[in-house]
Amino acid sequence: MIRFPARVPGAILALPLVLLAAACGGGDGAGEPAEGAAGAVADAGEVNVYTHRHYDTDQAQFDRFTAATGIQVNVVTASADELITRLEAEGTSSPADILVTVDAGRLYRAKERGLLQSVSSPTLDAAIPAHLRDPDGQWFGLTQRARVFVYAPDRVQPSEMSTYEDLADPKWRGRILTRSSGNIYSQSLTASVIAAHGAEAAEEWARGLAANFARPPQGGDRDQIADVAAGVADLAIVNTYYLGLLANSDTPADREAAAAVAVFFPNQAEGERGTHVNVSGAGVAAHAPNRENAIRLLEFLVSEEAQQAFAQGNYEYPVVEGVAWAPTLQEWGTFRQDMLNLARLGEFNTEAVQVMDRAGWR
Ligand code: FE
Repeated sequence: MIRFPARVPGAILALPLVLLAAACGGGDGAGEPAEGAAGAVADAGEVNVYTHRHYDTDQAQFDRFTAATGIQVNVVTASADELITRLEAEGTSSPADILVTVDAGRLYRAKERGLLQSVSSPTLDAAIPAHLRDPDGQWFGLTQRARVFVYAPDRVQPSEMSTYEDLADPKWRGRILTRSSGNIYSQSLTASVIAAHGAEAAEEWARGLAANFARPPQGGDRDQIADVAAGVADLAIVNTYYLGLLANSDTPADREAAAAVAVFFPNQAEGERGTHVNVSGAGVAAHAPNRENAIRLLEFLVSEEAQQAFAQGNYEYPVVEGVAWAPTLQEWGTFRQDMLNLARLGEFNTEAVQVMDRAGWR
């Protein structure tokens, strides 16, 4: 489902430049939203956000941004792939200023298709670690997630687990669950293995891993966790926030599933590269009609309060250091992450898909 912004593309393009100028000149941050103001001077313009996220906490941050700047935030919500398709179809007449989507592999894809533009912002560069943003400034990680092992503690001892690589060992035969190779998370994990060991070794790994699946891949990460809890398998490779969502769900069955499993952060030993992470991120759209407002919103989203709300709204880790984690994440403890620049995941995406296909990872 796609919700359209109030303005049609033509009207957006016709926005007088004076509005942009007013936005850039910006006040001291105490301005009121344009609504109800008498003159055009009070109208700080708007910013159009295409996002896959649909959390109340996100909207609350957009409202804070509007209260602080007077810039109206129009939100279009759709699935990540739908947003990219829509941006492509709209071309130069797209009203989009910002694309918010998930997984560096997908952000890379948007960049490759010419849907984003480079932004140079000392604020963003200082706040976001270099490996979590595009080297050309076309996208920036805003929150992060780790792809971890969720296991059944009655059937797996922590001492049995070590690395992603180890999951290809025959000792795991029939015990592992993960998503299909068509999913971007599987593709990005495989891309990280290619980055670490090369395509040949990655294919060997993928073949061993696929041979250890408890059943052919099906469903999302939440399904894998529920199936580990139900005894279908002993261990699932999933993104951390899905366990966070289940643990804090209104549905008792979700909370029971979460309580029946535990988290293991792989590749932590000395000399290992760390746990694979990815981001939920954003970039300024290639034809953004409100470019300066878009940059201001991105900069606002790396402020401490916005980071905390944005991350906790989906049980993700903030990208800005020192920002508090959701209590559930604190319970899992700290971990060392793979410092690979996430742009590499996009570069290796096509090869990752081929590797998984040859290895029989369906
Ligand atoms: Fe997800």
